[in-house]
Amino acid sequence: MDREFPTGSVGRSVITSEKALARSANGAFQAFARHVNPVEARLLRLGNFDKLYTRAEGLYLYDDKGRRYMDFTAGFGALNLGHNPAEVLAAVRRAQSLPTVLLMGFSPLAGALAEALAAILPGELSVACFGSGGAEAVELALKTARAATGRTRFVSCENAYHGLSFGAMSVSGSARYRALFGPLVEHCETVPFGDLATLQEQLADDDVAAFIVEPFQGEGGAVAPPQGYLKSAAEVCRAHGTLLIADEIQTGFGRTGRLFAMEHDGAVPDMVLLSKSLGAGVVPISVCCTTEEIWDRAFGRRDRFDLIISTFGGNAAACAAGLKAIEITLRDDLARRAAELGRHARARLQDLTTKHEAVKAIHGKGLLLGIELTPPVSGATTGENFAMMVASCLLNDHGVLTTYFDLAPRILRFEPPLIVSEQEIDYAIDALDQVLGLGARGLALSVGKSAIARILKIGWQSRTSSS
Ligand code: PLP
Repeated sequence: MDREFPTGSVGRSVITSEKALARSANGAFQAFARHVNPVEARLLRLGNFDKLYTRAEGLYLYDDKGRRYMDFTAGFGALNLGHNPAEVLAAVRRAQSLPTVLLMGFSPLAGALAEALAAILPGELSVACFGSGGAEAVELALKTARAATGRTRFVSCENAYHGLSFGAMSVSGSARYRALFGPLVEHCETVPFGDLATLQEQLADDDVAAFIVEPFQGEGGAVAPPQGYLKSAAEVCRAHGTLLIADEIQTGFGRTGRLFAMEHDGAVPDMVLLSKSLGAGVVPISVCCTTEEIWDRAFGRRDRFDLIISTFGGNAAACAAGLKAIEITLRDDLARRAAELGRHARARLQDLTTKHEAVKAIHGKGLLLGIELTPPVSGATTGENFAMMVASCLLNDHGVLTTYFDLAPRILRFEPPLIVSEQEIDYAIDALDQVLGLGARGLALSVGKSAIARILKIGWQSRTSSS
């Protein structure tokens, strides 16, 4: 039955945040399933991933029963400093007496954060356009490229992931987006990641505004390019007047063992995109950094300067978090830590490829690693389902949270916060070793039993049933 639209505030009663936090695990889950994303909720429940986490600190998540879990997903690169880093929370609190949002005036913290970014980025990337999410930074970069060059074409890589806004989807490498949302932004082409010859062909007519690339593919399954690829791509772009955009949204701030993944090659792009760990996962923030010359060509006029502004771009809390996150990342040399721990983890994971038929290969660098799985008994289950069964067993039997990469569902993510210890990495790898030792049938039994028991106990809630 249609609900009458209430007028005025008297008589309206809504749940308060205090009551929401005091809800039972099932009550909280039902609200999410009914009002946020029923399909996601159903999948979480099926795999027994629907824990009610009530606290998070560093590497660890704690559920409502007090059980502790290691988070090896780290917000897909947003939590290099772990959950709720105390120093970042304190920096955000200190900024709380400043105007939170100010749209007629300037922000001193935005200026300082742009200055800090210019100091740590390669080349002369001294001007920053701020947004809130990763996809927003991608939009800013695509707009900057068209406005600065007067060209319309974009080239990006197969299997790339740049986010889910229209521009970002248009330069991402998944056919799924085009099928559902097409037509996307026109004049976008893809080339194979790592293939310089095809890139050169695409740029030959000097009509491409920008080539956008992840220096190291994240959601494609932790894929490193061939050595020297990015540096050569930068030269090809320069020769054809095409701007090079490096999307470091997932790889930035130490994740792959260098402060930025483009440093593996010594490449200097025209634009760098950052988000995720820039705000330490505490406050959403993203940025498109470029040179003064490019910014000026694109927006340096009275009738253009405001075409890149958003309400929350450069807000005080986000910039305070960004400044502190950069300070900690440099002070604690987290890039070096990721490189060393990554070498250790990779060597140990590599051993699993000889021990378990189901482990096909290990991908990645630093602490952006992927474990490519294939089901050991052909026909027992699909690759995707097998990866999720492994992840479910890791979580429920060993307290290790992971999942697969968005564009590579056979590849299990090994992406902990960079503050993880060697012992914690060893624990997670030992757990994976034990889970794989169960074999496909043992896994199916282990996961199936707990999932079915939970569905029988709690029941299935569809979007239309009453709460
Ligand atoms: N670019 C890369 C490389 C990413 O990994 C992601 C997200 O995972 C994005 C862009 C999109 O970021 P957001 O989800 O904040 O829009």
